[in-house]
Formats: sequence, structure tokens, C-alpha cells
Amino acid sequence: MAERNNPVADARLFKNVYVCRNCNAKIRISNPKLLRPIQVRCRRCGGQVLRPKHKELRKLKV
Ligand SMILES: [Zn+2]
Repeated sequence: MAERNNPVADARLFKNVYVCRNCNAKIRISNPKLLRPIQVRCRRCGGQVLRPKHKELRKLKV
């Protein structure tokens, strides 16, 4: 894992990136509006339960 000292890299790595709760596949979502009615499905398992990767980031911070 990279150090968290580069906000630009952080944004690239974590912004609009979600993780499937079912199989932990990373899913990059180009348009966050798509999440409002959840239209995004995991490519690997087809699951719709996603979590933002941001939460992981916050845990690391604390
Ligand atoms: Zn999945």
C-alpha cells in the first residue's frame, strides 16, 4: 500500500471506487450519480451490495 501523503493519488485510488461486499472485487464507477438508484453490479459475482472504498481509508487513518 502506498503512503497516504498524496491527495492526488488518494483521489485517483479511492474516489468513485467501490468494493463488492460479496467477493471484494473493486469496482470503479465513473459517474457517482449511477449509485442513486443502485444500477451498479459487481462484474464478478453480479452482487449489488457495494461499499465505498473510502471507509477502509478512514479506518487506516485512525
Ligand atoms: Zn462481487
